[in-house]
Amino acid sequence: TAANGSAARPKFIVNSPNVVYTDNEIRSTYTYRTTEVTDREDGTRVVTPKETVYDFKLDTKIPKVGVMLVGWGGNNGSTITAGIIANRRGLVWETRNGRQAANYYGSVIMGSTLKLGTDAKTGKEVNIPFHDVLPMIHPNDLVIGGWDISGLNLADAMDRAQVLEPSLKNLVRKEMAQMVPLPSIYYPDFIAANQEDRADNLIPGSKACWEHVEQIRKDIRDFKAANGLDKVIVQWTANTERYADIIPGVNDTADNLLNAIKNGHEEVAPSTVFAVASILENAPFINGSPQNTFVPGCIELAEKHGAFIGGDDFKSGQTKMKSALVDFLINAGIKLTSIASYNHLGNNDGKNLSSHKQFRSKEISKSNVVDDMVAANTVLYKKDEHPDHIVVIKYVPAVGDSKRALDEYHAEIFLGGHQTISMSNVCEDSLLASPLIIDLVVVTELMTRLKWRLHSDEAESAKGYKSFHSVLSVLSYMLKAPLTPPGTPVVNALAKQRAALANIFRAVVGLEPESDMTLEHKLF
Ligand code: NAD
Repeated sequence: TAANGSAARPKFIVNSPNVVYTDNEIRSTYTYRTTEVTDREDGTRVVTPKETVYDFKLDTKIPKVGVMLVGWGGNNGSTITAGIIANRRGLVWETRNGRQAANYYGSVIMGSTLKLGTDAKTGKEVNIPFHDVLPMIHPNDLVIGGWDISGLNLADAMDRAQVLEPSLKNLVRKEMAQMVPLPSIYYPDFIAANQEDRADNLIPGSKACWEHVEQIRKDIRDFKAANGLDKVIVQWTANTERYADIIPGVNDTADNLLNAIKNGHEEVAPSTVFAVASILENAPFINGSPQNTFVPGCIELAEKHGAFIGGDDFKSGQTKMKSALVDFLINAGIKLTSIASYNHLGNNDGKNLSSHKQFRSKEISKSNVVDDMVAANTVLYKKDEHPDHIVVIKYVPAVGDSKRALDEYHAEIFLGGHQTISMSNVCEDSLLASPLIIDLVVVTELMTRLKWRLHSDEAESAKGYKSFHSVLSVLSYMLKAPLTPPGTPVVNALAKQRAALANIFRAVVGLEPESDMTLEHKLF
């Protein structure tokens, strides 16, 4: 899929009257089947199958896309930059274990497969790379840039991060030394005081102001023009900020937020200024950190402009495991009664999180991840009953980017027995998180090309196709505290999140969700 503006050839053709391929589009008509439940006053529960018919339209032209990272010079930023260069150039490097080739392991889009169907002759499963389900951009074609409050070039930033093998670093050093982050905005109150010594690449001013919004907008436009890009996606992979207070009249509505920035209000975080600037440039903005960048006024602003936003906080290690394991335990009918999660890490993220207010942002995003699974099991849990859940994070410089996560899951089993699961996870934090940056960009870009309308309603259809909601909850699989459209439920369970992503992609080409019933093998 060369990013040359031409339509990508689909990897398969759906043989159905509901799917039409044109030179530049895939159009499908899809029947979405749901189940409606009504509790009547007399106590009867009535369950009604429902059908809604949608038309989907996907632009199959693959655009040239740039990603601008806020915090480009950090561990994630420098790691993903080196990783894309390594993949693009097909690099192979020596390690003490032998030769290592570039790959995209850890990216659900680039590293995993999806069952397409069963083979007509053998009846065996046919699985294809997730990336082949729909025409998507390839990460190798991404142009990377961004901002950092530290002015180190990306080669030196990669050394500072202490993540990659020296042999790989040597191969990408020359190219990365040419990459220097744009100056950024720094409001010292929002990140840990211990970050001050790296803040040497700054746009003047220490609180929100309109000039900052304008400068960031200009940076996005300049980057787009300089690289001949069709689209830019902005992602926050900068330090975790403290929570911003939600103050009526300041950040509760779109207009109030814009005025608060113009008036230099102290409670507007740098990440929110970046989000506002991106929204106004119609560049999708994704928040990879836990703070509440998306204050209500910011969400309203995105909705007003039909701009895409997604967040919060990359779901890479401990929480990803949690949202899989808790789903398993509770759906197995085992009553989880406590989770104790300890982390220690020694990278700059850990240093920043050693400050209480920033840790608190992380604690919040790590804490709510089991709520939906607990609430769904009314057999095991009474209303408002929750397992005990604590999260501890400690900064231990010696272990560097190698994060250790120790978790204990304690549960009640049959007739008062107990099951205790202890887990120890060690891995390079940035090597887990960086591929999520790819997934978030690839899926978000696809969503900018996808439109829908109600098929069944003529008046609605006549209004034409619309985009998905500004808040991209389809990104939930990659995020610890998924942001959803206001008033809609949050799904944390990992398997459900993946199924949503896969089945929405299938629907775009008119395919039913994969039900895993395999009746064809059960009804001989
Ligand atoms: P890092 O500290 O190495 O990098 C952050 C970078 O952001 C630094 O280079 C810093 O100078 C820069 N920065 C800080 N404030 C800035 C601003 N206002 N504008 C521009 N740049 C700014 O951290 P990291 O390990 O790369 O992680 C980045 C973020 O991702 C952290 O908030 C972390 O909590 C979050 N995260 C990481 C993981 C993971 O597994 N690595 C998982 C989930 C979330």
